[in-house]
Amino acid sequence: KGAGRNCYAIFGAHMDDLLQARREIEYDLRRAVTEGKGLELHFQPVYSADNGALCGAEALLRWSHPTRGRVGPDIFIPIAEECGLINAIGEFVLRETCLAAQRWPALKIAANASPKELQNESYALKVMSMLKHYGINPEQLEIEITEGTLLDGGGQCQKNIEALRSIGVHFALDDFGTGFSSFARLQNVSVDRIKIDKSFVDRFGREKDGRAIIEAMIGLARAKGLKTTAEGVETDDQRMALKELGCDHLQGYLLSMPLSKEQFDKLVGGNVVNLRSTRM
Ligand code: C2E
Ligand code: MG
Ligand code: MG
Ligand code: MG
Repeated sequence: KGAGRNCYAIFGAHMDDLLQARREIEYDLRRAVTEGKGLELHFQPVYSADNGALCGAEALLRWSHPTRGRVGPDIFIPIAEECGLINAIGEFVLRETCLAAQRWPALKIAANASPKELQNESYALKVMSMLKHYGINPEQLEIEITEGTLLDGGGQCQKNIEALRSIGVHFALDDFGTGFSSFARLQNVSVDRIKIDKSFVDRFGREKDGRAIIEAMIGLARAKGLKTTAEGVETDDQRMALKELGCDHLQGYLLSMPLSKEQFDKLVGGNVVNLRSTRM
């Protein structure tokens, strides 16, 4: 009993610490968003599987916390969703994505959006006015959503997607294969691309069926007229197999880590030889 109580005490203290840390992060994130400090997009290059050409970039949000250092989006995005900061963050991401699109006009720029954003009645209008304000061709923008968005988003989410697709914005289904109903979902969903989740790419060579599953995913995408991007490509074997199976685009540490704007500029530097024709 004594030990039990002790355990409870330890557990209790631990919980308090967690809650405290969480409140702090929430407070600091709010400050970061309102003051525009510490938040920054990085860009991971996306390449053609076929010929290796640079075709685009995925914008990934980074937060440098004043004392904790780098905090990953996997930590702070869920917190932002819960405490109502996600719309402000989403707006920041969209703005910075438009600036990136201006900076690299030959590349397609993809931004991640949270389900909460797409449930917003004014989401499509907000994106449209942002594109207009920065003079961005809607076809240069891709928005990455997850199956969760489609599952919980309801009609409003679908309306936003349809409105934006009607002006040429593309949508990608992120982390494809990790949801409950991936394949069924593709029946009635309007996206332009699926992003094959890293967990499936990892299974290449490791598991017997690894290749067959990806082959099926790519086959399905093709049958539905969708493009495919593989995420988390880390080895040359994976790269070659994906190319062979007809995957359209590749993204992963093998090709490049996410880069700061300045680093990306250097990469693009000599490289922008009429990329417009290769844009994904
Ligand atoms: P995601 O959209 O699936 O992004 C891919 C994640 O995989 C990124 O992690 C990227 O850095 C990482 N990655 C890319 N290539 C490799 C690789 O070869 N190996 C490994 N191990 N990892 C790789 P990151 O940047 O930590 O982002 C995590 C997640 O946070 C994203 O997953 C996305 O769901 C979310 N996120 C990031 N930025 C935003 C944003 O601006 N808005 C929203 N709503 N969510 C975001
Ligand atoms: Mg993504
Ligand atoms: Mg992804
Ligand atoms: Mg993923």
